[in-house]
Amino acid sequence: MNVTETLEKAPAKLNLSLDTPFHHHDGSEEWDMVLTSVDLADYVAIKTLGRNGRIKVTTDSGFLPNDHRNLAYQAAHLLATTYGRKEAINIHIEKHIPVAAGMGGGSSDAAAVLRALNRLWELNLDQETLCKLALQIDADVPYCVCSQTAHVTGRGEIISQLPKLPAMWIVIAKPKISVSTPSILRRINYTEVQHADTQALVAAIQRNDYDGVCETVENVLTPITSRLYPTITHLKEQMTRFGADAAEMSGTGPTVFGICRKQSRAQHVANGLSGFCREVHVVRPVSLHTDFEQSSTPVR
Ligand code: ATP
Repeated sequence: MNVTETLEKAPAKLNLSLDTPFHHHDGSEEWDMVLTSVDLADYVAIKTLGRNGRIKVTTDSGFLPNDHRNLAYQAAHLLATTYGRKEAINIHIEKHIPVAAGMGGGSSDAAAVLRALNRLWELNLDQETLCKLALQIDADVPYCVCSQTAHVTGRGEIISQLPKLPAMWIVIAKPKISVSTPSILRRINYTEVQHADTQALVAAIQRNDYDGVCETVENVLTPITSRLYPTITHLKEQMTRFGADAAEMSGTGPTVFGICRKQSRAQHVANGLSGFCREVHVVRPVSLHTDFEQSSTPVR
């Protein structure tokens, strides 16, 4: 039996900016956001074998579905049906990214499966084709295919890559609540949204301007999620009180991140938060292709 196997890193994403200018007629949101990836990652092992076409997902997390509801399963199914592949696919996810946290864990796992199968099956799909497929799974999956700081618009499929962020350390705090993305998106009132200046953030990144980035980090969904979970407002306040230069919520929440210039300051912020929040990480922004040269490891 021909068995091929690979291990893929699936980094978490953070929204440095998140805005939605309007709603499309089909109900999906138009996005205007800046996304980056950080060195907190799931590990996705993908093995193809035999020809019974079965997709099996296992994880080391008790909280995840292991059937067609798992986004990694959906990615494998999509690629196999689109390209008529009949191999069985075994996927094992070693979970490190908090679930339902606004850090795109499921999306990044799905993107990892797309990259891995593209390579294992020698499909040679370019980034644009992979991103188009990725959008059928979820709005954040196209970004996660590249996992490199980008300005993302459209329904999530228009990705303009940005230069590396100015040097920074990021404190991530995940309160002990899970937020359902659809329940937050349903609450957006387009007549009330106070839009973010995403262009100013893009310009600050292009100038490598740390202060400019800190001044323009914004998420228009923060008021919606914080109304339901006031702990988010509290965490943001604590982050800045302990010395973060900016603090904001990622995605639909509840994860809050704080930006610091120095590692020592980030560690100080993290120590200060540990009394309020059990899950706190100090991370750095990464770019999948340049910082994770070992992101895909052929095993056999
Ligand atoms: P996003 O910000 O992209 O909306 P999120 O970070 O808030 O996502 P995820 O961790 O991706 O949230 O999980 C959202 C939902 O997706 C959960 O209900 C979870 O059960 C489901 N899910 C499906 N597959 C996965 C996966 N591989 N990893 C994590 N969650 C998954």
